[in-house]
Amino acid sequence: MLAALLYGKEDLRLETVADPTPAPGEVVIRVRAATTCGTDLKVWRRGGHAKMLTLPTLFGHEAAGTIVALGSGVTGWQVGDRVVANNSAPCRECFYCKKHEYSLCENLLFNNGTFAEYLKIPAAIVAQNLLPIPADLPYSLAAMTEPLACVLHGAARSNVHPGDRVVVLGDGAIGLMFVAALASGLGDWTAETAQTAPFAEVILFGGNASRLAVGEKLGATKTFNYRHIDDVPALVKDLTDGYGADVVIEATGVAAVWEQAIACTRPGGTVNLFGGCPRDTTITVNTEQLHYSELTLKGVFHNTPKFVRAALKLLASRELPLDWLISGEQPLPQLGKVFTAMRDRQVIKVAITP
Ligand SMILES: [Zn+2]
Ligand SMILES: [Zn+2]
Repeated sequence: MLAALLYGKEDLRLETVADPTPAPGEVVIRVRAATTCGTDLKVWRRGGHAKMLTLPTLFGHEAAGTIVALGSGVTGWQVGDRVVANNSAPCRECFYCKKHEYSLCENLLFNNGTFAEYLKIPAAIVAQNLLPIPADLPYSLAAMTEPLACVLHGAARSNVHPGDRVVVLGDGAIGLMFVAALASGLGDWTAETAQTAPFAEVILFGGNASRLAVGEKLGATKTFNYRHIDDVPALVKDLTDGYGADVVIEATGVAAVWEQAIACTRPGGTVNLFGGCPRDTTITVNTEQLHYSELTLKGVFHNTPKFVRAALKLLASRELPLDWLISGEQPLPQLGKVFTAMRDRQVIKVAITP
């Protein structure tokens, strides 16, 4: 089969590799849509990832397709089924899994290789995070289950309440999905029973006019291009009666923006530091502010099986116009050009159709 392999920094090669065959418990799918992701872009630019992969490697982690082969012992699935597979599954047996903290699983198994004609799904993912796609949901939308699951997991842990003023820093696909989830309250992430619409008032900061326009379509009440603003925390205070935002979501993975996120938050508020920074990055936190302002700083990583299901359900409901996040479809041989366009911020997500 034709597959993309990552060899190093911005070094992606299309190669013919052996077709995968399923071992016991595994399935193989024909990839029908593999969406590109900000994480893929980071990995491509940095030439690796601390937790997810070692080089050279099959590449890509968001995919939907049809089952073409079943390993022995796989039940409940048939060749031809339309499915989406999360890129990971927890072990359910380790210290963290026993505490239901599945994103911290010591044996979290990651599957890469969606930018290829076929993708092998490991047994743990088949058992826990392989889901059927409803008949009328296109593959390209279904492929966004994984990032949306990460966002719903992040939203659930950000202490957002109805009527809160929330600042999202970052207009990539993840930041924009946070806007959609937080503004609507949809996606089974909130514990509130009586929901108002809009759920939260979301203020989005980004660096790209067309992405900020998408943010407005997804429910942001105000959007700002940070390049035109001298002092983002001062502006946030102006917009919030001098207090700062109840909740700030950092979705850039830039250390300076992590510090800015903390500065934008009101006393008693929550900062969700969601964008992963390069290895060995440090930030400075003022202890007086942290203590006397009773800030909650949270790191939230990845997703859990519960939110994988919630994400697919939300995509299938079509209640949010998340197709705005897909800038188009491209065949596999265009993948290198697609990453260049992502780097240059000309596209948000592209659905690769191998
Ligand atoms: Zn992703
Ligand atoms: Zn575990």
